[in-house]
Amino acid sequence: MSIMDKIRLRQELGVWPSAATPPEHRPEILYIGCVDARLDPIDDIGIDKGKALIFRNIGALVRRNESATSADSVPPSASIGAVLEFFLNHIPAAPAQVKHIIISGHTDCGGLQACQHNACGEHDHYLPLYLDSLKSVRAKVMAEAKIKGWNDADILHALEKESVRQSVANLLTYPVVQRALDDGLLEIHGWVIDTATQRIAEMNPATLEFEPMAERAQDKNPDVRAGYG
Ligand SMILES: [Zn+2]
Repeated sequence: MSIMDKIRLRQELGVWPSAATPPEHRPEILYIGCVDARLDPIDDIGIDKGKALIFRNIGALVRRNESATSADSVPPSASIGAVLEFFLNHIPAAPAQVKHIIISGHTDCGGLQACQHNACGEHDHYLPLYLDSLKSVRAKVMAEAKIKGWNDADILHALEKESVRQSVANLLTYPVVQRALDDGLLEIHGWVIDTATQRIAEMNPATLEFEPMAERAQDKNPDVRAGYG
């Protein structure tokens, strides 16, 4: 039976979706993750349905805020910019309630491996353009790898972390994000999930280093801008 036949059969038999009460739409988290098919933010992290907006792309990348190059063109940052405005300007929150943006990279990421090895194919038009936003991340990691004699796995792990650092920095280029941080209504979190174990390493906002979440002390000052200052 094909994967599509299984989906249709479940609908016919009424065994999916389950008859549970639909959840309320009350997101407190904007989760930006990779499209990787092995990961499921709701199940892996244990967020209840209705509590998180899920935005996924290759590599969990956030582009810098860019202006349109002409009046009738749409800048490449429009998609993420619109999600940020939807989450921060239009999702209701209780007074003084803090919202959270999580940028969640992961280990063994195909997008980052393509970036690492310049592995786009001759029929790929958009992939190289998309991954070009990691150009400076790659250059920084490769320069460090040369000095430290890293192997392929070391380089990939460094790319995973540096890519999240860049995406967090890029988030800060959106006025709507700066406004929410200034108002004390937003915390930003950088993660790398181990794809095999689903254990999370979390970026320390003061040092920008990644530490196992289970061992990390809670921050007294969670404003991630401290580490980029
Ligand atoms: Zn990935």
